[in-house]
Amino acid sequence: MTYVIAEPCIDVLDRACVDECPVDCIYEGERSLYIHPDECVDCGACEPVCPVEAIYYEDDLPAALEPYREDNARFFAEPLPGRGEPLGAPGGATKLGALGVDTPLVASHPKPE
Ligand code: SF4
Ligand code: SF4
Repeated sequence: MTYVIAEPCIDVLDRACVDECPVDCIYEGERSLYIHPDECVDCGACEPVCPVEAIYYEDDLPAALEPYREDNARFFAEPLPGRGEPLGAPGGATKLGALGVDTPLVASHPKPE
């Protein structure tokens, strides 16, 4: 099981959740952050600090945000645009820093005016 970062994070990404995560499993793309589903230990510490309610326990995702469960996993399991290999399980986000790339779902989200 895992927590999931969904659509409200897009173009906000203030990183408040990152400071709370005890296992450094919240990775930064270009327009959103993503929780690694295998590295997350389900502690729930990130969820209450998000200012836009973007973080959900996977079973509690509203129906409209369900696609983000698979999308967080996809960020690690599939090659990202411009990167040859999937990220896999890096074992920590800090050492990678901002990756500057997103899943197609996040990248296709309309940009703010
Ligand atoms: S706290 Fe919320 S808005 Fe901020 S980076 Fe984390 S998920 Fe995104
Ligand atoms: S639930 Fe805990 S382990 Fe999982 S991403 Fe949030 S802070 Fe990190």
